Amino acid sequence: MTPATSPSLDTATIRVIGAEGEHLAHNYNPLPVVISRGEGAWVTDVEGKRYLDLLSAYSALNFGHLHPALVAVAQEQLQRLTLTSRAYHNDQLVEFSAGLAKLCGKDLVLPMNTGAEAVETGIKVARAWAYRVKGVPAGAARIIVAGGNFHGRTTTIVGFSDDPDAHDAFGPYGPGFVQVPFGDAEAIAEAIDENTAAVLIEPIQGEAGVVIPPEGFLRRVREICTENNVLFIADEIQSGLGRVGETFACDREGVVPDVYLLGKALGGGILPVSAVVADRDVLGVIKPGEHGSTFGGNPLAAAVGARVVEMLASGEFQTRGKALGEHLEKKLQELVGNGVTAVRVAGLWAGVDIDPGVGTGREVAERLLARGVLVKDTHGATIRIAPPLTIRATELDWAIEQLKVVLAG
Ligand SMILES: *Cc1c(COP(=O)(O)O)cnc(C)c1O
Repeated sequence: MTPATSPSLDTATIRVIGAEGEHLAHNYNPLPVVISRGEGAWVTDVEGKRYLDLLSAYSALNFGHLHPALVAVAQEQLQRLTLTSRAYHNDQLVEFSAGLAKLCGKDLVLPMNTGAEAVETGIKVARAWAYRVKGVPAGAARIIVAGGNFHGRTTTIVGFSDDPDAHDAFGPYGPGFVQVPFGDAEAIAEAIDENTAAVLIEPIQGEAGVVIPPEGFLRRVREICTENNVLFIADEIQSGLGRVGETFACDREGVVPDVYLLGKALGGGILPVSAVVADRDVLGVIKPGEHGSTFGGNPLAAAVGARVVEMLASGEFQTRGKALGEHLEKKLQELVGNGVTAVRVAGLWAGVDIDPGVGTGREVAERLLARGVLVKDTHGATIRIAPPLTIRATELDWAIEQLKVVLAG
């Protein structure tokens, strides 16, 4: 491997970054690097410098850049059919939905595009279920969510976020959500009343910094939801599909939610594919005309999604993620006290809290960029590590060596 050793801040690159600043809305603050190619765990910038991608587009690239099997299925489908809308059937959707339902151990799949749409769909399903099955009075359904949550950027979703940047400028906010501290099952139990439709949580909070709830929390949430006739909705958009060394983060506690919300890696890093997956007694509440999406379940998405599901069904990526994750955890634990104040690791997914004496998360990310490693900071002091599950142990070791150098100043 021939990693970059100098920052990509020469004139040509800055020119491109400057051009981005003129007409692109400033809703992101990207690292100063302009990527033009990707392959596996590596990307190459416009100058030809290579970087190891330890972010994987927030886990949308669990199979790496341009996975040959996924590119092949996309190319093949691109020459046959890309879009029908759901006004007609297409010949790809049955296989995708059957495979995904089986992977989840559920009856039905409702395909959408982005993660936020899957969350919105889950909210609609939970409300319709509350009115039509549970018998909650019209308009009174409530959903319990967790502090520190991240479920996407739509107006309904940011209304129950407690991140001021995500939330504050975007009201008025939709009613019907109750927030309790993440990881506190008894707070959920106390918040439940006869109008509670669902508990909506990330089994591990990604954007919050890979925050892992106490052992037993998910099992207890499952019990509480069952006892109270409340749906357990697991937002596995970032935590699912192999990231934690299991198919789902809920698997870490042997827990099966009523509803899975999936996205990100479901599109194989090629296009947005999301889904809500649940049994017929829940997802069957949605009738024709009540919900939909022009692009949801399109044949290109379905072909790629079906291949993603097939790859996960073999279990090899989960096994790999688990083994590499144990390796990563050992290496990261050695850094605690040496520029790092805490690490949280679940499979091949880590939140690393940087000692403020060393710098902010952003500063560490920029110094890593200069050494050929891409990571993303979150919430000031944390960097998130989520490499493609296809990364090699030697590549991971090399990246951690770079982190050590950066932490040493
Ligand atoms: C990324 C993410 C979403 C939103 O997905 P988009 O595709 O960006 O809309 C929702 N929930 C979780 C847990 C996520 O990580």
